[in-house]
Amino acid sequence: MQHDKNVTRTIGHLIDGQIVNDTARTQPVFNPATGQVSAHVALASVATVEAAIASAEKAYPAWRDTPPLKRARVMSKLKVLLEQRADEIVQLITAEHGKVLGDAMGELQRGIENVEYASYAPELLKGEHSRNAGPGIDSWSEFQPLGVTAGITPFNFPAMVPLWMWPMAVVCGNSFVLKPSERDPSSALLIAQLAQEAGLPPGVLNVVNGDKEAVDTLLHDPRVKAVSFVGSTPIAEYIYSEGAKHGQRVQALGGAKNHAVVMPDADIANAVSAMMGAAYGSCGERCMAVPLIVAVGDEVADKMIDGLKTEIAKMKVGPGTQTDNGGNDMGPLVTKPHFEKVKAYVDAGVAEGATLLVDGRGLKVKGHEDGYFLGPCLFDHVKPGMSIYQEEIFGPVLGIVRVKTLEEAMKLINDHEYGNGTCIFTRDGEAARYFSDHILVGMVGINVPLPVPVAYHSFGGWKRSLFGDLHAYGPDAVRFYTKRKTITQRWPSAGVREGAMFSFPSSR
Ligand code: NAD
Repeated sequence: MQHDKNVTRTIGHLIDGQIVNDTARTQPVFNPATGQVSAHVALASVATVEAAIASAEKAYPAWRDTPPLKRARVMSKLKVLLEQRADEIVQLITAEHGKVLGDAMGELQRGIENVEYASYAPELLKGEHSRNAGPGIDSWSEFQPLGVTAGITPFNFPAMVPLWMWPMAVVCGNSFVLKPSERDPSSALLIAQLAQEAGLPPGVLNVVNGDKEAVDTLLHDPRVKAVSFVGSTPIAEYIYSEGAKHGQRVQALGGAKNHAVVMPDADIANAVSAMMGAAYGSCGERCMAVPLIVAVGDEVADKMIDGLKTEIAKMKVGPGTQTDNGGNDMGPLVTKPHFEKVKAYVDAGVAEGATLLVDGRGLKVKGHEDGYFLGPCLFDHVKPGMSIYQEEIFGPVLGIVRVKTLEEAMKLINDHEYGNGTCIFTRDGEAARYFSDHILVGMVGINVPLPVPVAYHSFGGWKRSLFGDLHAYGPDAVRFYTKRKTITQRWPSAGVREGAMFSFPSSR
């Protein structure tokens, strides 16, 4: 991508506590609301990433031996700093991602909740103890850190997703190298600097900006013991296999195509307002966005369409930074190529025979003609096999699929390659329970459109939405970022001294 000579701001890396600018290769960062370049982000070379790994390796032994309570206190201080600097962080998110400020604040708040959970580290790391596992024998399990760990994150939650990863990794005693999305890297970098201000020693958390070269360097380096990834499914699959091939522990969260089932007995007004936010919030650029409604019965489909059309007509689309008149509901898409891709999906949906009820393709935002704005789109008669049904669009495009029964709706969801999130709108507890018991999806909402688990549960999809077994953040993060060590101990004493034993010891 072209370098804009008029823009001098460079976004570098954070290595060993210092900002490092290796600007041999850079990439422009755009303001999606204006289409203008706002900065250039350095794309780390192999040598720069190796320097970050070396710094993390150097910082590890002392940090591993720092008492968990002291590690946790850094998180408590970081939480305060994040709250104090929230407005600045949120502005950075909106300037590079495009989402509206209120939504950016929601993302940051969810990230802070992960920092808060990480501050319970001493409790989470207590381990398990069994006294008298045998005569005079005690046995216990410890959760020991892995060493240098790494995280690779997507553009759509530039502050929150990094906070899903490194706070838990470091309170468990690891050091960490973060590779944020090169499309909107500034908020993650600022937060890492705040972590240092909160007392995180240099090198415990390094940030390298970059692209495939940086990622591959992390995946191929034997000093990196574990990699957390969040992003699209093809890259998640690559990270999982490539990391595993190099002996790394990997969790790789991928893409999604989430369905909302609306039952005939549902509170339709509630389902409509829930679906407006779920489909169009953050311009549909959420892995838990809901781009498909599965309406059980034509009457439900028609009522949902009436309600949605009314609500869509009231939507305000414009720059995320606008605050007058209550601000906008939806900002621009993240980049020009992504805007073109989403628009092409709408064209394809029309060509494939779905009925386009609301067409956002012609939207122009006054004063922001070069911004990447696409208005909300609504399709009816979406069917399996169409690209707008099968593939993740990641834009403000909502489709309605018409079915006759709950079984038919569930079969559609269970047959889909993705299994990240889903929800059901109903007043029937039995139907809801049957749905949540039998649906092949990792996160399920019952009259809740975006069932994103809170920080003290864990987040993850099924099928091709997650490669690996442990989910992100919450209790699973303790397991992911530690190795179990089980110690069996006896102090021989005169009373229990035994002779040589040749049969396998057991609790007879
Ligand atoms: P992406 O896969 O393009 O990029 C994610 C990360 O991978 C970035 O840091 C990027 O630099 C790196 N990357 C990109 N191409 C690479 C390559 N060829 N080799 C090595 N590394 C590469 O994803 P994105 O567009 O930034 O984010 C959107 C995607 O993330 C969507 O598919 C969305 O569903 C998914 N996502 C999933 C979750 C989840 O929890 N399951 C959460 C958020 C986003």
